[in-house]
Amino acid sequence: MNVYFDVLIVGTGAAGMYAALNLRQDLKVLLITKAEAAECNSYLAQGGIAVARDENDLDSFVEDTLKAGKYENNVEAVKVLARESRENINQLIRYGVEFDREHGDLQYTREGAHRINRIVHCKDQTGKKVTEALYKEVKRRRNITVFEGTCLIDILRVGNTCCGGIAVKNGEVFFIHSKFVLLASGGIGGLFKNSTNYCSVTGDGIAIALKNGIKVKNLNYIQIHPTAFYEEAPNGRRFLISEAVRGEGGKLINKNKERFVDELLPRDVVSKKIFEEEEKTHMPYVGLDITFKPAAYLVKRFPGIYRECLKKGVDITRNVIPVTPAQHYFMGGIEVDLYAQTSMKNLFACGEVSCTGVHGANRLASNSLLEALVFSRRAAKLINSTIDFVNRLDAKAPDIPLNPDIEQKRNREIAIQKFKEVIGGLKSELVSC
Ligand SMILES: Cc1cc2nc3c(=O)[nH]c(=O)nc-3n(C[C@H](O)[C@H](O)[C@H](O)COP(=O)(O)OP(=O)(O)OC[C@H]3O[C@@H](n4cnc5c(N)ncnc54)[C@H](O)[C@@H]3O)c2cc1C
Repeated sequence: MNVYFDVLIVGTGAAGMYAALNLRQDLKVLLITKAEAAECNSYLAQGGIAVARDENDLDSFVEDTLKAGKYENNVEAVKVLARESRENINQLIRYGVEFDREHGDLQYTREGAHRINRIVHCKDQTGKKVTEALYKEVKRRRNITVFEGTCLIDILRVGNTCCGGIAVKNGEVFFIHSKFVLLASGGIGGLFKNSTNYCSVTGDGIAIALKNGIKVKNLNYIQIHPTAFYEEAPNGRRFLISEAVRGEGGKLINKNKERFVDELLPRDVVSKKIFEEEEKTHMPYVGLDITFKPAAYLVKRFPGIYRECLKKGVDITRNVIPVTPAQHYFMGGIEVDLYAQTSMKNLFACGEVSCTGVHGANRLASNSLLEALVFSRRAAKLINSTIDFVNRLDAKAPDIPLNPDIEQKRNREIAIQKFKEVIGGLKSELVSC
């Protein structure tokens, strides 16, 4: 079946929905997701979103991001991120996101490798609140159509110009013709046995880029989060214990109840120390202790973590939480410029699927939602100002693959193959969760 839109957006996470909302309302936009709209890593975000406190904090925020990224970041991209952080948080507030406040002002918390408190949050359910607010606004917009359960399997193109996508919904193939395509299909966690991500987020965007000769970058830059809840036989994704727990004073201890690392060092350093400690003590996990904080405070500050741990038999107000590192985030991705443009004409990539260079070799906590917001809005603005000059290319026949893979297995296989090549010595196994 052929369908026609001005812009096709793939993914209903923060990047995809925010891009859609920043597009002109006279454009016909199709937003697709392979799962239900809420099944995205953006929904799972707990800790919050980083934001420069004021003009005086801009340089420090940039420096903290560069330091965490081992100075392999794209400095211009980091400056854009810091400079545009406040206006995007304000936009979320206008969409109805109720960040926690104290005495009427936004409340800022701290996470690893940030020198000051600069994370806005909605208790420990920031992603849920943000994506719910964005989705509510998306549903209000009459120019945006949402197709759930619709998996992008490839793009349509004429030479190196993108002109739509091929998607499968209930076994039926859709040829979606559009002037622009924006990939916001998220990361790669679903390829790993131990990951905090939804299993359905399987690097499809990367596979599609590889198939079509679109430039990708830093595919070996995969972030392992130090503190996922340890279970002997996890069913699906591992539950994350937010960095904010350490930000609020949580201590990492070994089986002898000794601290072995500064908890607020960058994630790669803390993860490495935990792996070493696990090996030394012959234990598959270490402990995260926050029991010294008042119980009422913990229940109020971390209601989601409190409830989920309780379900798993751990009362965080009284028990040490068993934690171990797990795959969490992908710093590499489809190479993009400061407006999220890929190496293919009329194809944009935003959020975790993209590599703006903001994170360098290691992401600073709470910078990923911010990156998704800042660069998807930039992409939308560029589309808004250029779309009137783009002719729909479907006058020419796009190159259509002969046998579209309606079972959607091929992209996953391509991604697994590629990551096996680049992954080197990472501890998490690359198998289906
Ligand atoms: C547990 C957890 C906690 C986190 N906490 C924080 C935090 O506190 N602060 C922070 O900044 N970041 C946090 N992150 C990271 C952050 O949530 C993600 O990096 C970010 O939300 C990515 O947004 P996105 O829109 O790019 O992708 P996602 O939100 O993952 O959305 C991807 C979308 O693409 C869809 N999709 C994928 N493939 C296809 C396909 N082939 N066809 C159609 N649709 C497809 C998916 O179904 C989904 O809708 C956390 C991540 C996790 C997993």
